Amino acid sequence: MVKIFKSLMILLMFFSCSLFNVQKHTVLNLTIKTYDNFSNEYISTIENDLLFLDEVKLNDFATVITSNISIVDIDENNCSSLQVACVFPDRSKIIFIRPSFFKLNQTERLGTLLHEVAHIKLRNFDHVPCVSPLITNTECDEHADLAFGLELQFYKALDSVRPNTQTKRCIEKTKIRINNLVL
Ligand SMILES: [Zn+2]
Repeated sequence: MVKIFKSLMILLMFFSCSLFNVQKHTVLNLTIKTYDNFSNEYISTIENDLLFLDEVKLNDFATVITSNISIVDIDENNCSSLQVACVFPDRSKIIFIRPSFFKLNQTERLGTLLHEVAHIKLRNFDHVPCVSPLITNTECDEHADLAFGLELQFYKALDSVRPNTQTKRCIEKTKIRINNLVL
């Protein structure tokens, strides 16, 4: 009897660990759901990224993020394996993030968040084929008022207050994702 009870307890512990290990934290009005051992690292990274926007006085970009999404869902089964983050038309206010997102640098992470948020804000979830000969097999936007446009706007704003080569590289990489960019 004791043995059965013990096995049951072990089974119960196993299930409670695997199924219910969803942590919810509220950071600057965002609920962050995480499912694995790096939860605290993920949460503090997002928190620091948003606080950085405050530090460099780019709060408007933080507001765009926090006013258009309420849940950040972090899980390795999110999105496709090639994506670091994604959003869906029928899951508005939720941004899905894969752990690979945290391998990006801070500038790229913020740019990516803003890109995804723009999809939700503008209710536009599509991209078009790129026209630049510099890139192949990837997706672009037709004009600068879409997701890549907001991303570019952020990199430019950041570069004007904290110029560095990393941000300049992001600017160049994002410019070619906008087919009809008016310079
Ligand atoms: Zn996109």
